Amino acid sequence: MSSPTPPLAEALPTVGFIGLGNMGSGMTRNLQAAGFPLVVTDLRRESAEELIAGGARWGETPREVAAMSDLVITMLPTPKHVAAVAAGAEGLIAGLPDGGTWVDMSTSVPDVLEAVRIEQAGRGLHLLDAPVSGMSVGAAAGMLQIFIGGDATDVARLRPVFEAMGDPERILHVGGHGAGYAVKLMINQLWFSHLVATAEVLSVGVAAGVDLGVLRDALIASPANSTFVSRDVLSILDNGDYDEGFAIALACKDLGLSVDLARSVGMPVELSSLVEQIFRRARAQYGDHAGEMTPVRLYEELLGRDLRREVAA
Ligand code: NAD
Repeated sequence: MSSPTPPLAEALPTVGFIGLGNMGSGMTRNLQAAGFPLVVTDLRRESAEELIAGGARWGETPREVAAMSDLVITMLPTPKHVAAVAAGAEGLIAGLPDGGTWVDMSTSVPDVLEAVRIEQAGRGLHLLDAPVSGMSVGAAAGMLQIFIGGDATDVARLRPVFEAMGDPERILHVGGHGAGYAVKLMINQLWFSHLVATAEVLSVGVAAGVDLGVLRDALIASPANSTFVSRDVLSILDNGDYDEGFAIALACKDLGLSVDLARSVGMPVELSSLVEQIFRRARAQYGDHAGEMTPVRLYEELLGRDLRREVAA
């Protein structure tokens, strides 16, 4: 008697991906490694070469990507870029079938998806915001933290896709449409505030004659500790690395969106506005492509020396 034929493994959905930059390149590599067929596009075709060698298809336009995929992910710099990719005859909305799915993982605001939801009402589109934390290193490692705003059924259905890019323990459904964007903006706001505050106290302490390593150890052991002091600042203190994997132009974009969000809900945010201005000063001084931690250099210049820890050989 022949044994019953095992059921065919269910085919993984084809993922369309638009935006293969610092973040998107790592995220797509991990989707591909997890077995998801990919259709990709970017303004820079060369950014897709490795993926295409691995079997991904190229879409000439966002419309083509959407039409060739079961769901589309965007990972783009700013809300303007997201709107540009979505709109028009060659935009992704034109390529999505009725009932299609679009997940925007950019750090953005709800306006673009909200406008689509209103304009395309009746087409049954599934739209989610799912921005991420974890830097380009986390994107490359498939260990992003993901904050999802949208319907619970969509989140559950798309979980295997998110798990290919993120840490399963930190893929969070944070609320309805727009909640993902809001959570992400608040995380960045707080982290950038920690960055400025840390640069300030390290510089003043060192100027007052305290050894940098001793000062940092004391902060870590105190109630003033933070992840920035205990972990993230080390890339500067030990390696002089201000994280060019995240451009200060994008950090300024996030801070602007965060202050705008506060304005839209009627909250005065004196501290957030000040942090935004300090970041804008650093951007003007060091250029758009300088790393997100470059504001620390403003304090280093005032101090007259770099903040570097002497690491025992
Ligand atoms: P990036 O500038 O490195 O990449 C963006 C990519 O989008 C580029 O390759 C660009 O060519 C492409 N693009 C722009 N317009 C396009 C269009 N019309 N059609 C197709 N492709 C287009 O940016 P990134 O650092 O990868 O960041 C992407 C998003 O993720 C941003 O919203 C950022 O704030 C957020 N983010 C970044 C980091 C980080 O550490 N880099 C961390 C968390 C979140």
